[in-house]
Amino acid sequence: MTDIDLDMLVRDGIKGIIFDLDSTIMAPRSGKITAETATWLELARARFQLAVVSNNKNDPYIKQVQEHLNMIVLGRAAKPSAKLFLQVLEMFKLRADEVVVVGDRPLTDVWGGQRAGMKTILVWPLKSMNEPSWILFFRKLERCFIKS
Ligand SMILES: [Mg+2]
Repeated sequence: MTDIDLDMLVRDGIKGIIFDLDSTIMAPRSGKITAETATWLELARARFQLAVVSNNKNDPYIKQVQEHLNMIVLGRAAKPSAKLFLQVLEMFKLRADEVVVVGDRPLTDVWGGQRAGMKTILVWPLKSMNEPSWILFFRKLERCFIKS
């Protein structure tokens, strides 16, 4: 995620960024961001409206993340449903084509963002220390279903 060129987003007319949470902003169940992500987010915060839309159903965790990140964080999104993406759009008061969705999952983040009419960026998942190799296999398999 931190490889994303913020100048390029500005040139593309982007004014808002909606992030996936787990494996995009932070490693699953870690509850905190790395120093590199924190620096990148502060640069992004100065130029874009930011929000997180997650399928995570752990409400206390979502609340903790919201306080940690100090931005809109919505859980229970049921992506690829576009519903909460469109809810954030109303909060941002932007058009769908001024918002980009950033996530690590083609069939939830990217598909859901596209259904909301937004631009999308697929990122490689942040490494979790204890993620079994078969999960990586399915992540790679899932990527075969979309075109870049
Ligand atoms: Mg994710």
